[in-house]
Amino acid sequence: MTFVPGVFCDKKEERSYWFLFKKDKVLYFGKDNDIRFPELLSPSELGLKTTEPQFIGTIDGKSAFTAQVFDTEEIYYNCCGVAQYTYSGLRELYTQIGREMFTIVGRALHICRWHESWKFCPTCGAPMEDSKTERAKVCTRCGRIDYPVLSPAVITAVTKGDKLLLAHNVRFTDGRYSIIAGFVESGESAEDAIRREIMEEVGIKVKNIRYFGSQSWPFPNSFMLGFTAEYDSGELKPDGVEIDKAGWFASDQFPNLPSFASISRALIEDFKEKHPAK
Ligand SMILES: [Zn+2]
Repeated sequence: MTFVPGVFCDKKEERSYWFLFKKDKVLYFGKDNDIRFPELLSPSELGLKTTEPQFIGTIDGKSAFTAQVFDTEEIYYNCCGVAQYTYSGLRELYTQIGREMFTIVGRALHICRWHESWKFCPTCGAPMEDSKTERAKVCTRCGRIDYPVLSPAVITAVTKGDKLLLAHNVRFTDGRYSIIAGFVESGESAEDAIRREIMEEVGIKVKNIRYFGSQSWPFPNSFMLGFTAEYDSGELKPDGVEIDKAGWFASDQFPNLPSFASISRALIEDFKEKHPAK
Protein backbone atom coordinates (compact mmCIF):
# COMPACT_ATOMS: atom_id res chain seq x y z
CA MET A 1 0.00 0.00 0.00
CA THR A 2 1.36 3.41 -0.94
CA PHE A 3 -0.03 6.44 0.83
CA VAL A 4 0.88 9.90 -0.46
CA PRO A 5 -0.30 12.66 1.88
CA GLY A 6 -1.94 15.62 0.20
CA VAL A 7 -4.02 18.71 0.91
CA PHE A 8 -5.79 19.40 -2.39
CA CYS A 9 -7.49 16.86 -4.61
CA ASP A 10 -7.03 17.33 -8.34
CA LYS A 11 -9.20 14.38 -9.40
CA LYS A 12 -12.91 14.98 -8.98
CA GLU A 13 -15.90 12.73 -9.47
CA GLU A 14 -13.95 9.56 -8.87
CA ARG A 15 -14.62 6.64 -6.56
CA SER A 16 -12.52 7.38 -3.49
CA TYR A 17 -11.75 6.08 -0.04
CA TRP A 18 -13.92 7.67 2.63
CA PHE A 19 -12.94 7.72 6.30
CA LEU A 20 -16.20 8.78 7.89
CA PHE A 21 -16.35 9.47 11.60
CA LYS A 22 -19.21 9.62 14.03
CA LYS A 23 -17.56 11.46 16.90
CA ASP A 24 -14.27 9.52 17.12
CA LYS A 25 -15.52 6.26 15.65
CA VAL A 26 -14.79 5.32 12.07
CA LEU A 27 -17.21 3.69 9.64
CA TYR A 28 -16.03 0.33 8.26
CA PHE A 29 -17.35 -2.94 6.93
CA GLY A 30 -16.20 -6.54 7.06
CA LYS A 31 -14.93 -8.46 10.03
CA ASP A 32 -11.97 -10.36 11.47
CA ASN A 33 -8.98 -9.78 9.21
CA ASP A 34 -11.02 -8.42 6.33
CA ILE A 35 -11.86 -4.92 7.57
CA ARG A 36 -12.37 -2.36 4.81
CA PHE A 37 -13.28 1.26 4.47
CA PRO A 38 -15.92 2.38 1.97
CA GLU A 39 -14.98 3.34 -1.58
CA LEU A 40 -17.62 5.75 -2.79
CA LEU A 41 -18.36 8.59 -5.14
CA SER A 42 -19.81 10.37 -2.12
CA PRO A 43 -21.19 9.45 1.34
CA SER A 44 -24.69 10.07 -0.01
CA GLU A 45 -24.38 6.61 -1.63
CA LEU A 46 -24.81 5.25 1.89
CA GLY A 47 -27.52 7.76 2.66
CA LEU A 48 -25.17 9.66 4.95
CA LYS A 49 -25.05 13.41 5.42
CA THR A 50 -21.64 14.70 6.41
CA THR A 51 -19.69 17.84 7.12
CA GLU A 52 -17.58 19.31 4.32
CA PRO A 53 -15.10 16.60 3.21
CA GLN A 54 -11.38 17.08 3.64
CA PHE A 55 -8.87 15.48 1.27
CA ILE A 56 -6.10 13.63 3.10
CA GLY A 57 -4.04 12.15 0.23
CA THR A 58 -4.03 9.13 -2.06
CA ILE A 59 -3.88 5.40 -1.34
CA ASP A 60 -2.39 3.50 -4.28
CA GLY A 61 -3.33 6.43 -6.48
CA LYS A 62 -6.93 6.59 -5.27
CA SER A 63 -8.11 9.76 -3.50
CA ALA A 64 -8.99 9.55 0.20
CA PHE A 65 -11.32 11.88 2.06
CA THR A 66 -12.54 12.31 5.59
CA ALA A 67 -15.68 13.88 7.04
CA GLN A 68 -17.81 13.80 10.15
CA VAL A 69 -21.19 12.07 9.86
CA PHE A 70 -24.05 14.06 11.37
CA ASP A 71 -25.14 12.55 14.65
CA THR A 72 -28.67 11.82 13.60
CA GLU A 73 -27.59 9.54 10.76
CA GLU A 74 -27.94 5.84 11.43
CA ILE A 75 -25.77 2.91 10.40
CA TYR A 76 -26.43 1.81 6.84
CA TYR A 77 -28.33 -1.46 6.51
CA ASN A 78 -28.32 -3.75 3.53
CA CYS A 79 -31.45 -5.25 1.96
CA CYS A 80 -31.75 -7.99 4.59
CA GLY A 81 -31.74 -5.54 7.46
CA VAL A 82 -28.30 -6.69 8.55
CA ALA A 83 -25.87 -3.98 9.51
CA GLN A 84 -23.37 -3.91 6.68
CA TYR A 85 -21.42 -0.98 7.99
CA THR A 86 -20.59 -0.22 11.55
CA TYR A 87 -18.51 2.23 13.59
CA SER A 88 -15.54 1.45 15.81
CA GLY A 89 -12.87 3.27 17.76
CA LEU A 90 -9.67 3.29 15.72
CA ARG A 91 -7.51 1.68 18.41
CA GLU A 92 -9.85 -1.31 18.55
CA LEU A 93 -9.22 -1.97 14.83
CA TYR A 94 -5.43 -1.90 15.04
CA THR A 95 -4.75 -5.63 14.99
CA GLN A 96 -7.06 -6.12 12.00
CA ILE A 97 -6.01 -3.20 9.82
CA GLY A 98 -2.26 -3.06 10.60
CA ARG A 99 0.08 -0.17 11.26
CA GLU A 100 0.01 1.38 7.79
CA MET A 101 -3.76 1.74 7.59
CA PHE A 102 -3.94 2.69 11.29
CA THR A 103 -1.65 5.64 10.52
CA ILE A 104 -3.72 6.72 7.51
CA VAL A 105 -7.03 6.57 9.40
CA GLY A 106 -5.32 8.35 12.31
CA ARG A 107 -4.38 11.18 9.95
CA ALA A 108 -7.99 11.29 8.76
CA LEU A 109 -9.29 11.42 12.34
CA HIS A 110 -6.92 14.22 13.32
CA ILE A 111 -7.67 16.36 10.25
CA CYS A 112 -11.42 15.75 10.49
CA ARG A 113 -11.57 16.72 14.16
CA TRP A 114 -9.37 19.79 13.69
CA HIS A 115 -11.43 20.96 10.73
CA GLU A 116 -14.64 20.72 12.73
CA SER A 117 -13.29 22.35 15.87
CA TRP A 118 -11.43 25.30 14.34
CA LYS A 119 -14.27 27.26 12.78
CA PHE A 120 -13.76 30.65 14.47
CA CYS A 121 -10.76 32.86 14.95
CA PRO A 122 -9.34 32.65 18.49
CA THR A 123 -8.20 36.29 18.17
CA CYS A 124 -11.23 38.13 16.81
CA GLY A 125 -14.04 35.54 16.68
CA ALA A 126 -14.72 35.86 12.93
CA PRO A 127 -15.21 32.69 10.82
CA MET A 128 -12.08 30.88 9.62
CA GLU A 129 -11.83 29.52 6.07
CA ASP A 130 -9.56 26.91 4.48
CA SER A 131 -6.30 28.25 3.11
CA LYS A 132 -6.00 27.96 -0.67
CA THR A 133 -2.32 27.07 -0.51
CA GLU A 134 -1.73 24.77 2.49
CA ARG A 135 -3.43 22.78 5.28
CA ALA A 136 -4.36 25.79 7.38
CA LYS A 137 -7.27 28.00 8.38
CA VAL A 138 -7.26 31.72 7.65
CA CYS A 139 -9.38 34.24 9.53
CA THR A 140 -11.78 36.04 7.19
CA ARG A 141 -11.40 39.28 9.17
CA CYS A 142 -7.92 39.63 10.69
CA GLY A 143 -5.97 37.19 8.51
CA ARG A 144 -4.69 35.06 11.40
CA ILE A 145 -3.41 31.67 10.15
CA ASP A 146 -3.71 28.47 12.20
CA TYR A 147 -2.37 24.98 11.46
CA PRO A 148 -3.62 21.61 12.71
CA VAL A 149 -2.79 21.38 16.40
CA LEU A 150 -0.31 18.73 17.54
CA SER A 151 0.72 18.40 21.20
CA PRO A 152 4.21 16.95 21.66
CA ALA A 153 4.57 14.38 24.41
CA VAL A 154 7.50 12.27 25.60
CA ILE A 155 7.38 8.61 26.53
CA THR A 156 10.36 6.85 28.06
CA ALA A 157 11.42 3.28 28.74
CA VAL A 158 13.56 3.54 31.89
CA THR A 159 15.78 0.54 32.63
CA LYS A 160 17.65 -0.60 35.72
CA GLY A 161 19.90 -3.49 34.73
CA ASP A 162 17.66 -6.15 33.22
CA LYS A 163 14.46 -4.59 34.57
CA LEU A 164 12.06 -2.06 33.08
CA LEU A 165 10.10 0.60 34.95
CA LEU A 166 6.37 0.03 34.49
CA ALA A 167 3.69 2.11 36.14
CA HIS A 168 -0.05 1.91 36.59
CA ASN A 169 -1.88 5.12 35.70
CA VAL A 170 -5.04 5.78 37.72
CA ARG A 171 -6.93 6.25 34.41
CA PHE A 172 -6.16 2.69 33.24
CA THR A 173 -9.24 0.65 34.10
CA ASP A 174 -7.99 -2.70 32.78
CA GLY A 175 -5.07 -3.31 35.15
CA ARG A 176 -2.66 -2.29 32.44
CA TYR A 177 0.85 -0.99 33.18
CA SER A 178 2.92 1.15 30.86
CA ILE A 179 6.00 3.31 30.71
CA ILE A 180 6.06 6.95 31.86
CA ALA A 181 4.67 9.59 29.49
CA GLY A 182 3.72 13.23 29.63
CA PHE A 183 3.30 16.41 27.62
CA VAL A 184 6.17 18.75 26.86
CA GLU A 185 5.63 22.11 28.53
CA SER A 186 6.45 25.58 27.19
CA GLY A 187 10.17 26.28 27.15
CA GLU A 188 11.19 22.65 27.73
CA SER A 189 13.32 20.41 25.56
CA ALA A 190 12.13 16.82 25.20
CA GLU A 191 14.91 15.78 27.61
CA ASP A 192 13.79 18.38 30.19
CA ALA A 193 10.23 17.06 29.93
CA ILE A 194 11.44 13.47 30.45
CA ARG A 195 13.42 14.34 33.57
CA ARG A 196 10.56 16.41 34.99
CA GLU A 197 7.79 13.90 34.26
CA ILE A 198 9.70 10.96 35.71
CA MET A 199 10.67 12.92 38.82
CA GLU A 200 7.09 14.18 39.30
CA GLU A 201 5.38 10.86 38.73
CA VAL A 202 7.71 8.33 40.36
CA GLY A 203 10.40 10.40 42.14
CA ILE A 204 13.58 9.14 40.44
CA LYS A 205 16.39 10.67 38.37
CA VAL A 206 17.36 9.20 35.01
CA LYS A 207 20.46 9.42 32.81
CA ASN A 208 21.67 8.46 29.31
CA ILE A 209 18.49 9.59 27.55
CA ARG A 210 18.45 8.28 23.95
CA TYR A 211 15.96 8.92 21.15
CA PHE A 212 14.03 5.82 20.02
CA GLY A 213 11.39 6.96 17.51
CA SER A 214 8.16 8.91 17.16
CA GLN A 215 4.51 8.37 16.43
CA SER A 216 1.52 10.53 15.64
CA TRP A 217 -1.17 9.61 18.17
CA PRO A 218 -4.48 11.27 17.30
CA PHE A 219 -6.24 10.57 20.63
CA PRO A 220 -6.88 13.46 20.50
CA ASN A 221 -3.82 15.20 19.00
CA SER A 222 -0.58 13.96 20.55
CA PHE A 223 2.74 13.62 18.83
CA MET A 224 4.69 11.03 20.82
CA LEU A 225 8.48 11.18 21.03
CA GLY A 226 9.84 7.88 22.33
CA PHE A 227 13.08 7.59 24.33
CA THR A 228 15.05 5.14 26.42
CA ALA A 229 16.85 6.12 29.63
CA GLU A 230 18.66 4.49 32.53
CA TYR A 231 17.92 4.75 36.23
CA ASP A 232 20.28 7.15 37.97
CA SER A 233 19.20 7.69 41.59
CA GLY A 234 16.28 7.97 43.99
CA GLU A 235 13.61 5.66 45.34
CA LEU A 236 10.47 4.77 43.39
CA LYS A 237 7.56 6.69 44.86
CA PRO A 238 4.35 6.97 42.78
CA ASP A 239 2.80 10.44 43.04
CA GLY A 240 -0.60 8.95 43.93
CA VAL A 241 -2.29 11.41 41.57
CA GLU A 242 -1.49 10.14 38.08
CA ILE A 243 0.46 7.03 39.04
CA ASP A 244 -0.71 4.81 41.90
CA LYS A 245 1.67 1.84 41.44
CA ALA A 246 5.11 1.49 39.87
CA GLY A 247 7.83 -1.14 39.89
CA TRP A 248 10.84 -2.68 38.16
CA PHE A 249 9.83 -5.67 36.04
CA ALA A 250 11.91 -8.34 34.29
CA SER A 251 10.63 -9.57 30.89
CA ASP A 252 9.11 -12.70 32.41
CA GLN A 253 7.14 -10.71 35.04
CA PHE A 254 5.31 -8.24 32.81
CA PRO A 255 1.72 -7.39 33.75
CA ASN A 256 -0.98 -6.37 31.20
CA LEU A 257 0.62 -4.13 28.60
CA PRO A 258 -0.64 -1.40 26.22
CA SER A 259 -1.88 -2.17 22.70
CA PHE A 260 0.60 -3.01 19.94
CA ALA A 261 -0.67 0.14 18.19
CA SER A 262 1.23 2.42 20.57
CA ILE A 263 4.86 3.47 20.67
CA SER A 264 4.82 2.55 24.37
CA ARG A 265 4.38 -1.08 23.35
CA ALA A 266 7.11 -0.76 20.70
CA LEU A 267 9.49 0.48 23.42
CA ILE A 268 8.48 -2.37 25.74
CA GLU A 269 8.93 -4.94 22.95
CA ASP A 270 12.35 -3.46 22.20
CA PHE A 271 13.29 -3.93 25.87
CA LYS A 272 12.07 -7.56 25.74
CA GLU A 273 14.20 -8.26 22.71
CA LYS A 274 17.27 -6.90 24.44
CA HIS A 275 16.46 -8.54 27.80
CA PRO A 276 14.74 -11.84 26.96
CA ALA A 277 13.01 -13.77 29.74
CA LYS A 278 15.43 -16.17 31.44
ZN1 LIG B 1 -9.45 36.92 13.30
